[in-house]
Amino acid sequence: MADKSLRVDVEQPAKANLPKRVSYSQMSLYQQCGLKYFFSYIDGWREPPTSALAGGSITHEVVEHLYRLAPEERTLEAAMELLREHGPRMLKAAEYKPFESDNKMKHSVKEAIENLFKVENPTEVVVQPEHLEMELSVEINGVNFFGKVDRFTVDGVNRVTDYKTGKSPGKFVDDKLAQPYLYALGFKTQHDIDVDEVELIFLNAQEVVRRPADSGLVISQGEKLAQMRAGSESDVQSSSWEARVSRLCDYCAFERVCPARTPEAPIPGSTECDTKLSEAGLLHK
Ligand code: SF4
Repeated sequence: MADKSLRVDVEQPAKANLPKRVSYSQMSLYQQCGLKYFFSYIDGWREPPTSALAGGSITHEVVEHLYRLAPEERTLEAAMELLREHGPRMLKAAEYKPFESDNKMKHSVKEAIENLFKVENPTEVVVQPEHLEMELSVEINGVNFFGKVDRFTVDGVNRVTDYKTGKSPGKFVDDKLAQPYLYALGFKTQHDIDVDEVELIFLNAQEVVRRPADSGLVISQGEKLAQMRAGSESDVQSSSWEARVSRLCDYCAFERVCPARTPEAPIPGSTECDTKLSEAGLLHK
């Protein structure tokens, strides 16, 4: 993914610690750019919530509640009723309140939920309530891994499903499948359950991607998890992180303080850097 890399020395607290547990998003962020991972998980910065994040959270909430209903009750009318119940409630929460009047986002959520009924028939999906938003917490290759699986269905095929909002993944679909493959490994390791198939449902794009849970691909995600942990341990010890310049830099909140993109940028982790990030509206955990 990276076009070029630059190793960047940072200022980090003497007792800087890596998170005790690693999620798929942490792993994916580290693979994308080590320096971005440093800003987010060691230096403790995060971007303010976005309208897309608010919309994605509401969509997930509604779909989860829909699948908690008895199969025959999972109608489009019921889904819209759930949207009317949970949408306004979630938009009252402090983090999403700035988007309370965002009609474009609300329209996109409604469309995503309507699309669910176009890509599958919810009354026919066989799923147990305890298999929705399932938590995984397990050691994989010596790394404490955790994750939340949107849906696990057992209907002759053991299938792990993740819903996505936003654009079609296009040619990057294989990158997106890394997450359910890793969850399949989590299922095997934590519950001794063999997952047969992984599935991604892109609600806004009306696309369903299913792949066999190929054991080589599943195992390789566990190896990547261990590599990520070993790499980040070495980076935190040396206080230097790999900035990986790619097309994704255009969307990176840290670009203005990234020495790989902004030559006059301050040392990452320094007071000057913190000031610039605060001024840019980023939040410190
Ligand atoms: S701008 Fe690019 S290289 Fe710099 S931190 Fe962000 S993703 Fe990494």
